[in-house]
Amino acid sequence: MKDKRCTYFVPGPTWVRPAILQELTRPMIGHRSAEFRELFGRINADLKPLFATAQDTFVVTASGTGVMQAALENCVARRVLVTTCGAFSERWYNIAESLGYEVDRLDAGWGNAVAPEELGDHLARHHRAHYDAVTITHNETSTGVTNDVARLAQVVRDEAPDALVLVDAVSSLGGIPVKFDEWNLDVCLASVQKCIALPPGITVTAVSQNALTRAKKHPYRGTYFDFISYKEKADDNSVPSTPSIPHFYALAAQLDHIMRGEGLEARFERHRRMREITQEQTARFAKLAGDPQHASATVTTLTPAMSAEKLRADMKARGYTRGGGYGQWKDTTFRIGHMGDIPIEDLQAMLDALAEVTRG
Ligand code: PLP
Repeated sequence: MKDKRCTYFVPGPTWVRPAILQELTRPMIGHRSAEFRELFGRINADLKPLFATAQDTFVVTASGTGVMQAALENCVARRVLVTTCGAFSERWYNIAESLGYEVDRLDAGWGNAVAPEELGDHLARHHRAHYDAVTITHNETSTGVTNDVARLAQVVRDEAPDALVLVDAVSSLGGIPVKFDEWNLDVCLASVQKCIALPPGITVTAVSQNALTRAKKHPYRGTYFDFISYKEKADDNSVPSTPSIPHFYALAAQLDHIMRGEGLEARFERHRRMREITQEQTARFAKLAGDPQHASATVTTLTPAMSAEKLRADMKARGYTRGGGYGQWKDTTFRIGHMGDIPIEDLQAMLDALAEVTRG
């Protein structure tokens, strides 16, 4: 049976297949039971290839912002460098400040990607800053720009080898390749309501051995987000405190679909194709708001030739929801989320409706 048609194109939370919604209604099991350990074992076995890692993976019952905070609390004792290029990369800055760290910022400007050369220059000029960590946002959901994490992480390794690399892959993991081990990352996190296409509420995370060693030395890393207790429990296919068990059922089913149903490579290809048709079919009435060289495969941020608010209302009248502008681009742009499980034919139907309303 084909799942109900998708009319929802917000860049998170994304459309969830009805079969996955059903998984959330299973009867409860205890999180210290053998059944839970079996479920968690299956999840962890699929998270490793999703992150392309042989290191540790955890599932945290919190949204992505919680695990951004966790990454900082576990890995930073004093000073951190935050790379920014839009609203969500700026969130790292706000969290780090709120935790009382010394925070430096390398700002690429809204709509740009962070340039590896500029990061290299900054680190070379500030080598006495002794950063504990550098934060990178893989896919900036506000501007629709994807950063080259592989190159940026390599620059950190070359110029500041003691700094850990903390990566937000919230709107990329499962839609754009992430290679945790090959890229030498230390923490990489993704809430599940974007490309993994589950309801919001949990966050999947990969953590390097180096990050765990750093966390162990950190005397005040808190309790709820303590990576060391996550590691100890994960070794026994368990978690430190009561998790959102319905999400674990849904995650296991969705990872099975991603890895063995659709297949990871086919999923990446579908996302690239969704970017292509979205760009082609909106070019007549809207401009890409961010750097086209770094245009995201999961979300397209557009500056329309007409009122973004009128477009929203006209599309709503036809039953479609798509994303508004975000942050400082709220009034001038709109966003099309094409991430997660969206079938290409449903995206095409939405783009046809958009073409009609923009013809007036
Ligand atoms: N990082 C990025 C790139 C995001 O797009 C979002 C949410 O949209 C977040 C972080 C925050 O994640 P959450 O809403 O799961 O806390």
